[in-house]
Amino acid sequence: MLTDKNISFTSLDTLGEFGLIDRIEKSFTPKYANTIKGIGDDAAVLQGDDHFYTLVSCDMLVEGVHFDLSYTPLKHLGWKAVVVNLSDIYAMNGIPNAITICLGINNRFSVEAIDEFYIGVEIACRTFAVDLVGGDTSTTRGGMYIGVTALGKVEKNQVVYRNGAKKNDLICVTGDLGAAYAGFRILEREKQVFLENPNLQPDLAEYDYVVGRQLKPHPQIELISWFKQNNFIPNAMIDISDGLASEILHICKQSNVGARIMEDKIPLDIQTQKVAMECKMDTNTFAFNGGEDYEMLFTVPITAHDTVKKIPNVSIIGYITDKEEGVNLVSKQGSLVPIQAQGWKHF
Ligand code: ADP
Ligand code: MG
Repeated sequence: MLTDKNISFTSLDTLGEFGLIDRIEKSFTPKYANTIKGIGDDAAVLQGDDHFYTLVSCDMLVEGVHFDLSYTPLKHLGWKAVVVNLSDIYAMNGIPNAITICLGINNRFSVEAIDEFYIGVEIACRTFAVDLVGGDTSTTRGGMYIGVTALGKVEKNQVVYRNGAKKNDLICVTGDLGAAYAGFRILEREKQVFLENPNLQPDLAEYDYVVGRQLKPHPQIELISWFKQNNFIPNAMIDISDGLASEILHICKQSNVGARIMEDKIPLDIQTQKVAMECKMDTNTFAFNGGEDYEMLFTVPITAHDTVKKIPNVSIIGYITDKEEGVNLVSKQGSLVPIQAQGWKHF
């Protein structure tokens, strides 16, 4: 009985987001042959037609948690809601083809405002060749809620999981890291300035790149196209939604390996470095714990070194080790610093 004094309740904070997901996963091991991969990767993998698997992934954006409408244009929000989901399909080395959208709104929003949101959705659908095929709409008591499900497909022999990393693999990353978090810091800073003095107009020109990375992320379609055109398949892959720390820890945990990441190899944009300095913070915090970069983290056999060098916009940032060596950052001075799961979210 819930009123029994002897029953104690555990705070969700003791588990955190990933602890809770592990707990759910343990209770729902797949039972049916149609489920190739259930909970635990960027997208679920289901039996498809002929030589394809079907991929399914969903993500939720909640006002006040994932976005602030005081500085997020609804058009950008529509775009972002779609692309963060497509990113998880690309992370399986797949191609997305359809999405559904569940929208929670209330009459604080005008028809024109919702139109703006769907203009962003439409541009993203057109850019990445996916159809919006359904969803659900509900009123909410609080803020705006957006749940997007993405469907995609991948050739059975091309699917890439988080669990395929092998000892001595090279660890690679696209683009640069920490920029989306830098953009977030600037937008929050300008919001405070505006609240204190509404006559001051924000001047974001010198932060255009990082602000763009926060408001209008770009998923890694080019990398997946390159893999397909060059008949190349990485060993393991994950998209960087929560920051480099939690993503490399996911790959290592699921692949049963360790890793070394070289601090001096982490790609950082000059604007990210400028913002970190202005915030008196370490750029490592931005790259490792910032999140929302939607770059791709993947590992390849060391024999593919020359091949990887040919992929545009990719940096080699470290290598996979035995599990016993742990997951470490090799600092610029050469010391080993364990990579912590600081980026993991709490309730
Ligand atoms: P990502 O950052 O790539 O979106 P998540 O960390 O959100 O991945 O999710 C990791 C895995 O856990 C995925 O397989 C996802 O489908 C699953 N998952 C997340 N939340 C739940 C939930 N509430 N119930 C069941 N599975 C979940
Ligand atoms: Mg992901």
